[in-house]
Amino acid sequence: MSARADYGARIPAAARGGVVATVVPDSPAALAFIEPGDEIRAVDGSPLRDVIDWQWLADGDSASVLAVKPGGLAEEFTMTREPGEPWGLTFTETVFDGVRTCSNKCAFCFMTQLPKGLRRALYLRDDDFRLSFLQGNFVSLTNLDDADVERIAEQNLSPLYVSLHSIDTEIRDRLICAREDRGLERFDQLLDAGIDLHVQIVLVPGVNDGDALERSLRWLAEREGVGSVGIVPLGYTGHQRAFSASYGESQAALAVIAQVEPWQKAFRARDGITWVHLADEFYLNAQVEVPAADHYDGFPQYENGIGLVRSYLDDCTERADELADALAAVSSPLTLVTGTLFAPVLQRLLDSLMPEGLRANPSVSVLAVENSFFGGNVSVTGLLTASDLVPAIAKLPQGTVALVPDVVANADGLLLDDVPAAELGMRTLREVRLISCTADGLLGGLIQAAETPH
Ligand code: SF4
Repeated sequence: MSARADYGARIPAAARGGVVATVVPDSPAALAFIEPGDEIRAVDGSPLRDVIDWQWLADGDSASVLAVKPGGLAEEFTMTREPGEPWGLTFTETVFDGVRTCSNKCAFCFMTQLPKGLRRALYLRDDDFRLSFLQGNFVSLTNLDDADVERIAEQNLSPLYVSLHSIDTEIRDRLICAREDRGLERFDQLLDAGIDLHVQIVLVPGVNDGDALERSLRWLAEREGVGSVGIVPLGYTGHQRAFSASYGESQAALAVIAQVEPWQKAFRARDGITWVHLADEFYLNAQVEVPAADHYDGFPQYENGIGLVRSYLDDCTERADELADALAAVSSPLTLVTGTLFAPVLQRLLDSLMPEGLRANPSVSVLAVENSFFGGNVSVTGLLTASDLVPAIAKLPQGTVALVPDVVANADGLLLDDVPAAELGMRTLREVRLISCTADGLLGGLIQAAETPH
């Protein structure tokens, strides 16, 4: 049940709230006459800055909501619901008052290494603790003020994901170049407030590795509430001059693995968790097996590229019989397209799954595509652009079907260089199908190829 009261007031244009995207029919929101396009400005008199405020303020069974209709008319609604019942609305955005950008100039910032001419959104240097809580984005904490820390504590925005990089002031100055660096102080304030923190260290050769990494790990290990530490290698493009190497050589990657292993063993012995994890790239570059799934403590930094390979391999192993049958059933040329980093893993997987009689002359092959668009050490599949994919796929023999992982495209189906994924086929004169980066996706792609030979 809901009551409605028209206020008829005009709200100043500067005030912003959350724009309603969808309303579930017959939900409490629908019964309160909330409609898509309405802008919810306040709940029980408190303004809304983001969906976190919405969830925080409207967490009871009744809420007084101030909404502005698309024409500018402000109305106040009382919404009520049964205990546990959802309100039945979604918002067009998660942050209503603008995404906070960073006040740093990190030496390795990937956004500043991008070639010109990409979508504007790709250059956005967000550093917003709300997106850290909601989406797992890493934040530096250098733009937090006291009010932010209080809010995080009050609303218990835990866990947060923090880019720390180093605990040495001089190294932080050199790497992060914050306008004002109180990041370590904020880190401790958040821990004191009971917020769990997952930490990222971007490892830069000769800067924050070696002894500096040892100091950072010791500092972090002393702090309760640090849920995990993820170490990822510096990524650099060819559109800058400061960096030219990053643990790409097997010996350099092995050295990092050897340094971190004692920490992992000590934590496993003491707490039963690995705690400090290395990005998949270290193992792939070192040409050693990625650790077993139980090493990853439930994959707390999966989105950070830590454990993806293990997870994919294990999923495929679970479905090995189905995959082998599907591989055997493919009779016309099929190519699995991937970045150069993952290509050797995929090839080994394919070899292990391929029925023995087909290994000498397989229909299914792997195509490793170099990333010339970004250059540098960029080798992951998700950063491949049409400018690299198109010439590589177009060189495949006529009649080949190419399976391209769907991570190359965004939710609008656009590749990073703004080419619609749907145009890849037309541009290469080959049949191109997108598949998800899962065992399911691979199996589906193989079955489709077997059922519809080209
Ligand atoms: S915190 Fe550093 S790496 Fe992240 S966006 Fe800002 S400058 Fe770039």
